[in-house]
Amino acid sequence: MNVLLIGSGGREHALAWKIAQSPLLGSFYAAPGNPGIADHATLVDLNVDDHAAVIAFCKDKSVDFVVVGPEAPLVAGLSDSLREAGIDVFGPSKAAAQLEGSKGFTKDVCARFNIPTGAYQRFNNAPKAKAYVREQGAPIVIKADGLAAGKGVTVAMTLDEALSAIDDCFEGAFGAAGAEVVVEAYLDGEEASFFCLCDGKTLLPLATAQDHKRVGEGDTGPNTGGMGAYSPAPVMTHEMVERTLKEIIEPTMRGMAEMGMPFSGVFFAGLMITAKGPELIEYNVRFGDPETQVLVMRLKSDLLPLLHACATGTLDQVSAEWNNDPALTVVLAAQGYPAAYDKNTPITAIPQASADAKVFHAGTAIQDGALVATGGRVLNATACAPSVAQAQKKAYALVDSVAWNNGFCRRDIGWRAISREDSGQK
Ligand code: AMP
Repeated sequence: MNVLLIGSGGREHALAWKIAQSPLLGSFYAAPGNPGIADHATLVDLNVDDHAAVIAFCKDKSVDFVVVGPEAPLVAGLSDSLREAGIDVFGPSKAAAQLEGSKGFTKDVCARFNIPTGAYQRFNNAPKAKAYVREQGAPIVIKADGLAAGKGVTVAMTLDEALSAIDDCFEGAFGAAGAEVVVEAYLDGEEASFFCLCDGKTLLPLATAQDHKRVGEGDTGPNTGGMGAYSPAPVMTHEMVERTLKEIIEPTMRGMAEMGMPFSGVFFAGLMITAKGPELIEYNVRFGDPETQVLVMRLKSDLLPLLHACATGTLDQVSAEWNNDPALTVVLAAQGYPAAYDKNTPITAIPQASADAKVFHAGTAIQDGALVATGGRVLNATACAPSVAQAQKKAYALVDSVAWNNGFCRRDIGWRAISREDSGQK
């Protein structure tokens, strides 16, 4: 199978590393890829917004299968264009990608199909949104409806914070994404992520994970794209996984099909495990970053046929085998991140990979023949071991072998799971 992978982050390096191990793989291309992905695939310069150019490339190189990493090309309809051209693609249609592209759409799906989530209202002007917030009181959550690069959500602990978040949205802080606002009840509990493949009519549950969104140790400071993650999430017991499937994922799959937009790809459910059980915070319609890095470390099966089965409606014919050992990833970020940070600083050494320890590239480039950091989140030190504490130790050993003066990381990734291990809890 000749494969084109779209994307350039740590998630795509993790996917590329795993796909490259498949005996089914023929030629492998990545657009645009990164220096880590270049170890596995031929990097190509393609404008993914130019669907005709992507299709022409696939025809020219006899690409059979396209794996779309990030959400933006899915929300823009790349998979529809590829499917119309007869090319198999991993990733939902533009219509089904609304589950990530519009928070209001997802809340309406939840309401229609009785999926547990916080009570909500949608607004297209500030006065009405503010009146509702005054009526509800704080804490309350204000969300820009559209894609805002993970920045459009304010968990407001006071009424003033909520009111100014509403002003921010309608005054254009998130561009077109903030033209509509969803106001949502605050959910109290522990967060977890659940990943599940879907071909429109069959589900294949993958694994659970938890990430650390805040930049500072002890989960403090500003939000980021994610400073680390581990899998599985201890809070996702067998019972919670079963309930999530029955109460959230299965009704979503059936509902999307009923609405004429069957979902094909990965359901990445952001959950709050409340006193009542699992409730949906949000859907993403692609793999998580950095959660994918820990998922691929734990996946024993060949990933390529699983992704391909999503695309071809044959998910009932495949299964996934997992290593029960936990995996953990630590994000190395550029000093200053998530605010302004230096670019183009040299990285002079990255440790060798083994089967259960690997540094994935997320924001790197080659300049004048040398490796440099170009992104905010730059490298992901990832390891698998018999306990979270051991996986953490192994991941930090990788971190300490990276030679990059301008990087920093949190030193407490996995703390919650490790304290559970220490207290003997599952
Ligand atoms: P989202 O972009 O929807 O994942 O939201 C970002 C973060 O905001 C989530 O990971 C949660 O920590 C928090 N959040 C979102 N919605 C709620 C909610 N209804 N209650 C509490 N926290 C929330």
